[in-house]
Amino acid sequence: MIVRQIWTANSYRNFNYLIACPETGEAIAVDPLDHEKCARAAADEGWSITQIVNTHEHRDHTGGNEALVQKTGASILAHRNAGDKIPGMARGLGAGDVIKVGRTVELEALDTPGHTMSHVCLLSHTDQPALFCGDTLFNAGAGNCHNGGHPAELYDTFANQLSRLPEHTQIYPGHDYIENNLRFTLDREPDNEQARAMLGKVGGQDPSHAFVTTLAVESRINTFFRLRSPSVIARLREAFPELPDDPDPRTVFLKLRELRNKW
Ligand SMILES: [Zn+2]
Repeated sequence: MIVRQIWTANSYRNFNYLIACPETGEAIAVDPLDHEKCARAAADEGWSITQIVNTHEHRDHTGGNEALVQKTGASILAHRNAGDKIPGMARGLGAGDVIKVGRTVELEALDTPGHTMSHVCLLSHTDQPALFCGDTLFNAGAGNCHNGGHPAELYDTFANQLSRLPEHTQIYPGHDYIENNLRFTLDREPDNEQARAMLGKVGGQDPSHAFVTTLAVESRINTFFRLRSPSVIARLREAFPELPDDPDPRTVFLKLRELRNKW
């Protein structure tokens, strides 16, 4: 499996992806908003794009579909409940469905509600798994819930799915938000030395050569995975004095999500 992360350089800071089978040159495009960059990158590699996956229905993820289908004839795949929001969908995905690309690549769909209620992440079946997580999980952050999502569902997705993946899973999010997110982590947890070191490393990075984290790294720098951290809880209590001494992780997650909206 070969992964190309494509930096769109737009104001939404989208990342698009090509995932290719090295044997056949078949490729899948994930959220190819910048269809021109995606098509050019595929041509440079000698790949043919046969499928498009939209992680969810938002326009900054689906806006390139039409042009790329016209150019390549690729079929469009997305969450099975997104059919009324994504024109031309050929295949609806549910939890556990497998997408094959060429001879060697298998991507498993995870049903990951929260950012929207029809959001999929893709997990590769490779020795080192890769997770294409759209707007569910960002480097050092979590998706917002104000365009068709629900924070409680997002918590369930984090707690019951993402945090149970192998810790060496590579994280490929839908946007480059790492710098801003690390500043939020440090605002919540000023003594998080690893987040501080990461900010020093990726602050001002060129997103066309972005640092790729793993779930193990996220568990140290992403507030939304640090729900039992005494510093996170102590700092949260400054904003929510009614917070109990030993709050349940779900409460902590929801309060953090609430604060992040205003931050
Ligand atoms: Zn979105």
